[in-house]
Amino acid sequence: MQGNIHSFETFGTKDGPGIRFVLFLQGCPLRCLYCHNPDTWLKDDAKYHHSPQEIYHEYDRIKNVARGGVTVSCGEPLMQAEFVLELFKILKTNNIHTAVDTSGIFLNDKVKQVLEFTDLVLLDIKHINPDKYLKLTNAPLQATLDFMTYLAETGKKVWLRYVLVPGYTDDETDLHHWAQYASQFSNVERVDLLPFHQMATHKWENMEVTYKLKAVPPAQKADVERAENIFRLYGLNI
Ligand code: SF4
Repeated sequence: MQGNIHSFETFGTKDGPGIRFVLFLQGCPLRCLYCHNPDTWLKDDAKYHHSPQEIYHEYDRIKNVARGGVTVSCGEPLMQAEFVLELFKILKTNNIHTAVDTSGIFLNDKVKQVLEFTDLVLLDIKHINPDKYLKLTNAPLQATLDFMTYLAETGKKVWLRYVLVPGYTDDETDLHHWAQYASQFSNVERVDLLPFHQMATHKWENMEVTYKLKAVPPAQKADVERAENIFRLYGLNI
């Protein structure tokens, strides 16, 4: 079995605890307007193809530095659930911490098997308003909420993620609703607020896809602090 792989980051510090090996998998069914990795959308566009065993050996070479463990990340890693399952089985056999960064769009038997071998889920809940979520991602919010419910029911550790995009995801009422929703789950350990930036513009241009957020300014430190303060009102750990 081979995974369709976009790229690797050998010493990642933003995708789970500690210094981590981050594997970016190719393929995503969402079409987020702010996507920073549109070049990962199509599964068949993968630059690399590797077996779970080969990925494990790659990690093994650097494990003394990347002690945090392994994270699989965007596009949508659970689109290749079978590959992730085999990889995580190997990693857990070797006592290595595993994390999945996901939009929660898929919840099927194979994904549930992956979660049994997953220590931490980084779940992106990209908006709390169903209509705005649909416009932002071209996918229904309910799938992600169902995913979160399943994580709560199974007691899985979760770090929630939220990308702050001026004019799209920074409405004060929406932020209160998002935080209120998130605060009901005792398995949510922390929340990461990620400021929108424009560093991926060239990727959209190279792909000749209309980038609707071209004129949107990056989120500023003050915007992030305002949102963080709202989240803290609900007891969320930022
Ligand atoms: S889920 Fe991630 S990779 Fe997929 S479209 Fe959205 S931002 Fe891009």
